[in-house]
Amino acid sequence: MRERDGAAEVALDATAFYPGGGGQPADTGSLGERSVVDAVEEEGILWHRLDGALEVGAAVTGRLDWARRFDHMQQHTGQHLLSRAFVDVAQADTTSFHLGDAIVTIDIEHAGPPADLLERVEARANEVVWEDRPVTIRWTTPEEAARLPLRKPPAVQGDLRIVELEAYDWSACGGTHVARTGQIGLIHLLGTERNKDGTRVTFVCGGRALRRLRDSGSLLRSLALAFTAGEADLPRAVARLKGDRAALERRLKPLLRDALEREAEALVAAAEQGVSWPVVAASWEGRDPSELGPLAAGITRRGAVALLFAAEHPGDPSRAHFAAPGGTISAGTLLGSLCRRHGGKGGGRPESAQGSIPADRVARALDDARAAALAGPDSELPG
Ligand SMILES: [Zn+2]
Repeated sequence: MRERDGAAEVALDATAFYPGGGGQPADTGSLGERSVVDAVEEEGILWHRLDGALEVGAAVTGRLDWARRFDHMQQHTGQHLLSRAFVDVAQADTTSFHLGDAIVTIDIEHAGPPADLLERVEARANEVVWEDRPVTIRWTTPEEAARLPLRKPPAVQGDLRIVELEAYDWSACGGTHVARTGQIGLIHLLGTERNKDGTRVTFVCGGRALRRLRDSGSLLRSLALAFTAGEADLPRAVARLKGDRAALERRLKPLLRDALEREAEALVAAAEQGVSWPVVAASWEGRDPSELGPLAAGITRRGAVALLFAAEHPGDPSRAHFAAPGGTISAGTLLGSLCRRHGGKGGGRPESAQGSIPADRVARALDDARAAALAGPDSELPG
């Protein structure tokens, strides 16, 4: 027994725990009363990392978290098979493998496999799954191994542990595998993305594939319910919705423009008169901040200074949009000093500036901005 980073680690005379490696995580489970949270191999000794100490010399029963281990065996053996199918069908070697908590990835030497090629690889891999070929493990000398069609050259010296998917794939591997390819169940490709000069392929096998299909099915059913459409009609329903929305936006645009124009007119008519120009200072909650730009333009066109704030939702930081006709104040300078005082950020040119002010400072920022803009062209904040 030893202590590492505050946790007890024990070595046993025999163990079924896999220490991780080759892209596969270590096993977890229990030893007697203790949980095994990790396992690592160092210089030929397998250390079981525990959540507490065990008595040295005690006999303990080890238990693997079998559901997790079997899942790893399905994904890992599925990876051997899929990597071979990529060589077989697409002449693409696998350069690395990662077994994550939810998905599995391999990196292959192919710049961009098209969808039909991926389908053929997936189909070939699943054929071999359903042929239910035995998966055998044996130790060989380097000379024997050299006569086998290994998928990639071995990474270690000396005798090799060869994993064979009968008459299909040979790999030197120290990981854990299912006994027959049929136990992989299903190999399901999820997607690909560009990775340097090659491609990263994401997939799941066995139980993970089943859960994935179950989740996708329930998602589809809830979407179909929301659209009151059959699953097969969903693409058409979404396209119709997008079309309707685009048509509404086209109709709305001129109406909104007119409404903002009338609002600007009313705001300027009611504006306070500063040293030599009117000032419109206003803030809104629950207003789309994208309306501030056209509103401010309507205000400055009528010769007034616009100091506007809007937050989409109450409690959000407010977007500030300041605009000033030539010869009045500098909107950029005023907003800049306002932001420094009230912890916001923003700035801009003399005629137009934009920024953002924390929700709890908007009322005071508005007062300060109004006072400065009413006072004169220097647009300095009052002290
Ligand atoms: Zn393996």
